[in-house]
Amino acid sequence: MVKLDTIISLAKRRGFIFQSSEIYGGLNGCWDFGPLGVELLRNLKELWWKAMTYREDIEGIDASILMHPRVWEASGHVAQFTDPMIDNKVSKARYRADNLIEEYIERLRNKKKNDLADEIEKKLISANSPSDYYNIIVEYKIPDPVSGTTEWTEVRYFNLMFKTFIGAVEDASSVVYLRPETAQGIYVNFKNVLDTARQKIPFGIAQIGKAFRNEINTKNFLFRTREFEQMEMQYFVKPGTENEWFDYWMNERINWYYSIGFKKEQLRFKVHEKLAHYANRAVDIEFLFPFGWGEIEGIHSRTDFDLRNHQEYSGKKLEYFDPVTNERYIPYVVETSGGVTRTAMAILCNAYDEDEAPTEKGTMEKRTVLRFHHKLAPIKVAVFPLVNKDGMPELAKKIHYDVQKHFKAMYDDSGAIGRRYRRQDEIGTPFCITVDGQSLQDNTVTIRDRDSMQQIRIEIPKIVEYLKDKLNI
Ligand code: ATP
Repeated sequence: MVKLDTIISLAKRRGFIFQSSEIYGGLNGCWDFGPLGVELLRNLKELWWKAMTYREDIEGIDASILMHPRVWEASGHVAQFTDPMIDNKVSKARYRADNLIEEYIERLRNKKKNDLADEIEKKLISANSPSDYYNIIVEYKIPDPVSGTTEWTEVRYFNLMFKTFIGAVEDASSVVYLRPETAQGIYVNFKNVLDTARQKIPFGIAQIGKAFRNEINTKNFLFRTREFEQMEMQYFVKPGTENEWFDYWMNERINWYYSIGFKKEQLRFKVHEKLAHYANRAVDIEFLFPFGWGEIEGIHSRTDFDLRNHQEYSGKKLEYFDPVTNERYIPYVVETSGGVTRTAMAILCNAYDEDEAPTEKGTMEKRTVLRFHHKLAPIKVAVFPLVNKDGMPELAKKIHYDVQKHFKAMYDDSGAIGRRYRRQDEIGTPFCITVDGQSLQDNTVTIRDRDSMQQIRIEIPKIVEYLKDKLNI
C-alpha cells in the first residue's frame, strides 16, 4: 500500500495541497488547495451535490458559518462538544485520552495480545467521564508514545468549538462560534425550507460548507484538521420509520463511493457501539488509509433531538403537519455526514498506483499514475505538440483553445514527449492529445488513454465528441 508521505509529497510537488501559510512556517491543522487540488475538490462536491440534490425529495441550502450562539446551546455543543485531554508531564505532549487508549489497544492487537486489548476496549466503550479515561490509562500503565513514561496529568474536557466575538465589544454577550458542523444550519432552516419548497415528509436538506474544530491533535495530513469542509444531508422522516431510512441511506451512500471509483475492498461499514448523545443508531463508512481504517462519512439516526431542542430554545414550533393523516409531529432525522477534504485525501490514496510504461528507447520505466475516476480528474485532457516546430505548436494551441471550452485542459510543450505523458499520468489526466507530423498532412491527432496507454488516431473535428463520450459528459 502507498505510504502517506508519498501522497503528501506528490500532493505538494504537483500543486494539489500546500501547508497553510507555508512561508511563515505553516499553521497547524490547516491546509491550502492548489490549482489541481481545487479542481479535485470542486469535482467531488459537484458529484455529491448532483447525487444528493438532483432528486425530488432533497433541497440544497447554504447557511452562514456564524450562527446565533443559542444554536450551540440547543444542539448540546456548548456543554458536550468536548474531547478528553491528557498531558504527559515529561514530554509535555498532549493527547486525546480516548485516542491514546485506542492506539494502545491497536498496538496490543499487533502484538497478538487480543485478550488484554478486548478487556481495555470494553472499558473504553463504557467510559464517559474524565476519571473513567484516567483510570484506564493508570490501571493499564499506558505509556506516552513519545517519552515512554507513565507520568500523566488528570484528564480534562476540552471544548472543540472556536470562539470569537461579533461586533465591536468583546464580552460574554458578543460571543459567537465558528460552526463545528454544517448540520445545525439545516435544522434552523427546517421550517423555511418546508414552507417555501413545499416538500412533504420524507424529504431532505443538503449543504456543503466549511466547519471548524479546535482538535487536540491534528494528524495524518487532511484526516484530522482544524478547518475542513463537510457535505451533509439531513433527511426528515416520520418517527418510527427511521430504521428503514437508515438502511436506505447506508446503501445509497456506500454505492455512491463505489460509483466515484472507490474499490470495494477498501471501504467498510463500522457500526458504532458507543452512541453520541443525540443518536439512536450510527454507522461509519470507513476507508482503508495508509495508516489504517478511518471514517470518511458518518450516518446517524438523530431522532428528534435537534429539532425538539431548537423548538424549546427558540420557542418556535418546528412540527410537521401531515395533511393526509392529520397528524402533527416533530420529524426524526437520518443524517449523512461526509468530509470533503478527508474524502479528497482518500481519493488520492485510492487513485495512487505504480506500474511500468515503455520509454522512447523501447525499454520499460516505472511510472506513477493517479487512476482518478474520470469525473474526479482535475485535468481531463492535455494537448502536446510532438516537437516545437513545423507548425505543430500552432495547431496544438488551437486544439487546446477549442477543447478547453468543454473540459479543463492543459497545454504542455516542454521536454521529451515521454516525460510529458509521465507528468500527466502523475496528476491523473485521463487523455493526452499529441499533434505530430502526420497531423499537418491529414488533420488527425493521437489520443492516448491514461490507463491502457493505448493511442488511437482521430480526426481533429471529432476530438470533442470523442472525449465527451469517453468522459461521459
Ligand atoms: P472523529 O470521531 O474522527 O473525530 P466525528 O465522528 O466527530 O469524527 P463527524 O462529526 O461525524 O465526525 O463528522 C462527519 C465527517 O466530517 C467525518 O466523517 C469526516 O469526514 C469529517 N470530519 C470531522 N472532523 C474532521 C476533521 N477534524 N478534519 C477533517 N474532516 C473531519
